[in-house]
Amino acid sequence: MKSRNTLTFRELLKARGSSQQFKKWLTEYIDSGLGPDGKEDPHARHLSEKLLKTLRPAARPFVMLTRTGFEWFFRGSSVEETFLRFLDSDLRYTVHICRYCGKWFHKEPMAKPYSNGIHCSQRCKSSHSVEEGKRRVRVKKLEICQEVYLWAWNQWREEKKIKYSEIDDVAKNALARKGVSKKFYTDHLEEITDGA
Ligand SMILES: [Zn+2]
Repeated sequence: MKSRNTLTFRELLKARGSSQQFKKWLTEYIDSGLGPDGKEDPHARHLSEKLLKTLRPAARPFVMLTRTGFEWFFRGSSVEETFLRFLDSDLRYTVHICRYCGKWFHKEPMAKPYSNGIHCSQRCKSSHSVEEGKRRVRVKKLEICQEVYLWAWNQWREEKKIKYSEIDDVAKNALARKGVSKKFYTDHLEEITDGA
C-alpha cells in the first residue's frame, strides 16, 4: 500500500521518454496555458474535456483517513496513473516547454503571465523576441503593400490613370516613399495580391 506519491521531475522525464501517450497528454496540458497571442500563464493550465473524460475512471484513488488527515494512493503505474501523479504535484505548473528552443525545464513560474511565452534561458527569450519583432515588422509591411497595391490597381481600374502593365511599378514607387523596398514587394507579390 502506497501513500500519496507525487511525481518528481526526473520521473516525469522518464515517463515522457517511455510513453508517447504520456508525452502527448503532458504537452497538451502545458500548452493549455498558452494563448493564441503567445501569452503564457502556467497557472491557467487545465485539462481538456476529452482528457478529463479519459482520466476520470483512473482517478478514483483509495482515500484513507489517518490521524493527520486524508491520505490517498493509486493502485498501479499505468500511464493514466502516472499522469494523475503529475497532476497531483507542483510540476503541473513548474514544468515548461521553452517556446524558443523546445527544451523541457523545471522552474517556479512568475505569478503573472509571460507575454511572449516562457523560455528556458535569457538567451532564448531574447532570440524569440527578436524573431517575434521581425515577424511583426513583416506583417506590418505586408499590410502596407496590400493597401498600396489596391490603390495602384484602382488607378488603373477605376481612375484609368495608368495602364494595367504599370500597376506593379506604380505600387513599388509609392511603397519606396513609405519605406518598403521594391524587393520586399517583388518577393512577397503572391501574398500581397492574394490578401488584397
Ligand atoms: Zn530555450
